[in-house]
Amino acid sequence: MLTATAAYYSQRYQVIKQASIIEIAQSGLNQLTYSEREFANSQEQLFSVVDLLGDGQLTADFALDPSEHNKNQLESMFVSVLKSQKCYNHIRFVDNQGIEKLRVDYYPHTHSAQSTEDRHDHSQSGFFRYAQTLAADDIGIWSSQHALGPDVDLTLPSIQVIRPVSVLDKRYGYIMVSVEPWNLANRLNYVLNNELRPQLVSEQGIYLAASGRDYRDAPGQGSLRGESLAQRFPLSWNEIKQIQNGYTQEKGHLLIFTTFDLSADQKLHLVITLSPEQLEQRLQRDVDDLVKQGIFVFLLLLVFILPTLSMALHYHRRNIESKLARAALEGMSAVMISDTSHQVIKVNQEFENITGLSSERVVGRNGLKTLLSQQGIEYIMHVLELVEQAQFWQGEVEFVTPEQRHLTTIMRIQAISEAGRISYYITSLVDISEHKALENKLRELSEKDSLTHLWNRRKFEQELQAQTQLVARYPDSHDACLVLIDIDFFKRINDEQGHDAGDRVIAQVADLLVSQLRTTDFISRIGGEEFAVIMPHTAIDEAQAVVERLRHAVDLDQSLTVTISAGITDLNQDSTRSYKCADIALYESKTLGRNRVSLCYSCDDIA
Ligand code: GH3
Ligand code: MG
Ligand code: MG
Repeated sequence: MLTATAAYYSQRYQVIKQASIIEIAQSGLNQLTYSEREFANSQEQLFSVVDLLGDGQLTADFALDPSEHNKNQLESMFVSVLKSQKCYNHIRFVDNQGIEKLRVDYYPHTHSAQSTEDRHDHSQSGFFRYAQTLAADDIGIWSSQHALGPDVDLTLPSIQVIRPVSVLDKRYGYIMVSVEPWNLANRLNYVLNNELRPQLVSEQGIYLAASGRDYRDAPGQGSLRGESLAQRFPLSWNEIKQIQNGYTQEKGHLLIFTTFDLSADQKLHLVITLSPEQLEQRLQRDVDDLVKQGIFVFLLLLVFILPTLSMALHYHRRNIESKLARAALEGMSAVMISDTSHQVIKVNQEFENITGLSSERVVGRNGLKTLLSQQGIEYIMHVLELVEQAQFWQGEVEFVTPEQRHLTTIMRIQAISEAGRISYYITSLVDISEHKALENKLRELSEKDSLTHLWNRRKFEQELQAQTQLVARYPDSHDACLVLIDIDFFKRINDEQGHDAGDRVIAQVADLLVSQLRTTDFISRIGGEEFAVIMPHTAIDEAQAVVERLRHAVDLDQSLTVTISAGITDLNQDSTRSYKCADIALYESKTLGRNRVSLCYSCDDIA
């Protein structure tokens, strides 16, 4: 029996050698899938920031009137975006002629952002010409590879994400955000195992950067940046170019790779390379495990003479379990490992930090219920179903910690299978609360008017659409009114007291609107000294009473020397017609002498 055992283990050595390579290739491919997803996520976030900046009120203000005030406002916006995102190189506003009107650079070492004052002319640059081809709502990606061509040693490529800035269908320029592609993945990067750190390789086969903290360091110290993978591994390079993802061996190295699109016309490769030494070490570890396992079984045989195979398998399984757990827990993100029934086996320190939940509180319980309890049971069931089907789930999850901190996280659940059966779930959480707060701030800026802090015209139009749709859907139960308000003889204020005084009057009237109207009313500034109010669940005579009270308040306000005129209509299902009705009523107030409120019913004949 002892000879049989020895033969078994010697044959197992060969099997393990091959299995070790396949196993590492498989975990490498898993890592690449993960990194690719991280990349896509960050790219999406970047797009939403660029979109909000391009569409924002501050950008529009600066585009229309590049005064010092508007410039400072936009500049501080750029600064706050750069400081909160930490991974963009610079943001700029380039006008229609290609002149850089505002540029703010980010300095990662001091975590600061500053504007530079040379009004660079980019009219002849490739990226500017590319920007001009974009449609109004397009977001374009321009990579420096386009411009420099294949022969240039591009050790730090950057991409420009570009969005046209238009106001009322007229184009005024472009918002351009410059990013190093690896930075995008780097900030959310989560590597299960240090040996499996992917490197970014350009379409020309040049190592661009490796992930990890030292990505900016000069070549050397193991960094391959600037070197050519195509020359080092010509055979593998051929495969990498042709196959979407996979692994290959050359000169004793193992290369695991995947390819993705950086932009419509540029690809990037993520490649994990393991040297013969690393492979040997790895094999040695597996062999050590086998030897330990052999001795273990040998002793067992001698002492207890128990069924060999089942014990060896059991030991092997436990060993994989602990390796897996260690690898995952070394990662940077918050990680939770649970069994097939989602009972938590282990969480790491970062998990405790982010969620405020101690290990004792979660281990042994259903992890999904703990993390998703605030979303309700139906949501949990839905997630469970998806995880079982696809072996993967990812979503944005809101969470309130025991100490009442509001978190927004990206939660990913990955099923780990052995021999075709799910054996664990690894759940990771990345805290994106800061990013979310910025996004909300940007969204608010794109929907609010900066002088009065009321909703702006664009938001008004959306709201008007939404309300008229409600009326169309529930014609018997949903009534709402639209009120247009215009300050009387406002030109005089400007002419006599200057534009700034005019602005103060507008802001003062806005404050009165807010204080006189109800919190459920939607109040917006739709033009210079024109306001629109949507009053949901309000009949036209109620609206009239409210607006009359408001008109009085403006008239009686000692600190204001102006009056207002208003026109009211009851909303019907046609937003254009409703607006026209309210405008007719306003016009009537003006022609009848101003400082008054008029009505125009939706059923009136307005031809
Ligand atoms: P009416 O009673 O007929 O409304 O007379 P009005 O003088 O108010 O006429 P109108 O509405 O045509 O003109 C509004 C003026 O408001 C035109 C423009 O000079 C001024 N204006 C527009 N936007 C602003 C702004 O943002 N700030 C300031 N201070 N003035 C503005
Ligand atoms: Mg007006
Ligand atoms: Mg006016």
